[in-house]
Amino acid sequence: MLDIQKIRAEFPILSQKVNGKPLVYFDNGATSQKPQLVIDAEVKYYQEINANIHRGVHTLSQLATDAYEVSRGKVQQHINAKFAHEVLFTSGTTFGINLVTNGFASILKPGDEVIVSSLEHHSNIVPWQMLCEKTGATLKVIPMNEDGELMMEAFDALLSEKTKVVTVNHISNALGIINPVKDIIAKAHAVGAAVLIDGAQAVPHLKPDVQDLDCDFYAFSGHKMCGPTGTGILYGKEEWLNKLPPYQGGGEMIKEVTFEKTTYADLPHKFEAGTPNIAGGIVLGTAIDYLNSVGFENIQQYENELLEYATKRLLEIEGLRIYGTGKNKASVVSFNIDGIHPYDIGSIIDKLGIAVRTGHHCAQPIMTFFCIPGTIRASFSFYNTKEEIDQMVDAVKKAQTMLS
Ligand SMILES: *Cc1c(COP(=O)(O)O)cnc(C)c1O
Repeated sequence: MLDIQKIRAEFPILSQKVNGKPLVYFDNGATSQKPQLVIDAEVKYYQEINANIHRGVHTLSQLATDAYEVSRGKVQQHINAKFAHEVLFTSGTTFGINLVTNGFASILKPGDEVIVSSLEHHSNIVPWQMLCEKTGATLKVIPMNEDGELMMEAFDALLSEKTKVVTVNHISNALGIINPVKDIIAKAHAVGAAVLIDGAQAVPHLKPDVQDLDCDFYAFSGHKMCGPTGTGILYGKEEWLNKLPPYQGGGEMIKEVTFEKTTYADLPHKFEAGTPNIAGGIVLGTAIDYLNSVGFENIQQYENELLEYATKRLLEIEGLRIYGTGKNKASVVSFNIDGIHPYDIGSIIDKLGIAVRTGHHCAQPIMTFFCIPGTIRASFSFYNTKEEIDQMVDAVKKAQTMLS
């Protein structure tokens, strides 16, 4: 069992007041809060070992390089990658996805097909559309049902030898639905397609095992898992990372440069041009250690309780509809109230100290599917409480009274 009060005390921002009310932070799907030890680790890096990595022979440069590579090793272990050089530091999920789509520009041909799902974040739609425009490949979409679940028979029907890439998110940011990614990966591989999993919403809630999933790429961001902004990871299978061309050219990613020809560095450096976010990369390792010390089993069990409780309490409100009613869900509740714009509810409850996200959540096709302008999304973390959920429900009721 988690000691939630002790955990909350580790997050300084949670004791703040917003608009004169104690902060209730339910926008964890957009970014998580950071524990003091993550904040301290960032400061400590600059105070004690700041230097550029992989370059100097001097002591600080070696200390910084070691810390960066130790962090890469932590990520490797955490996601169970076979090799550390399959773990690329990026600035976030968006960067990782674009690295892959850029690489596939030299592989795809007219007539090839790319399959995305109807549950994707814009980050996992637009780069693939750009890739299809560039190469003449066709974009296909796995449809979803009214519960927000992907329709697997329709997916089967889309697959063919023309399918070159399949990409889905592990967990939907807009609805919280957990997708059957292992099944999707196996089916895609059966027709010879590569698979990228967008794990941005999964990594705060679970520990992905990339070898067990057998995905070819797995992208995620540090900032949604208690780490710093501007950090992220792209896992890629060695054979794929060897096949893809570099994304950016620059320092650090070369073996030898002449004006006639440049040869590229070995993995992972081939994909890590320029000076990276060194402090961020190191501190991402600290954030992963922290989450593991809380324990993903504890996190899941507690967040499921919060999800069940919030669902039950919210459904007491007349005219409230929840979107994403599928069975397999993470701790996200997306909802609307009859006749009231989500933005209006969001603004009123913000005055009461409650932070939720309103709008399309970078997933406009989902909103189009449900014929709504957006939803109110409450996304819970292991540092939230049932008392906070009660406060949100009271605030939503108050807003409903004021607006109707
Ligand atoms: C947040 C998110 C992204 C984009 O992550 P960035 O950190 O903004 O690059 C992509 N996909 C999903 C499912 C997300 O939740």
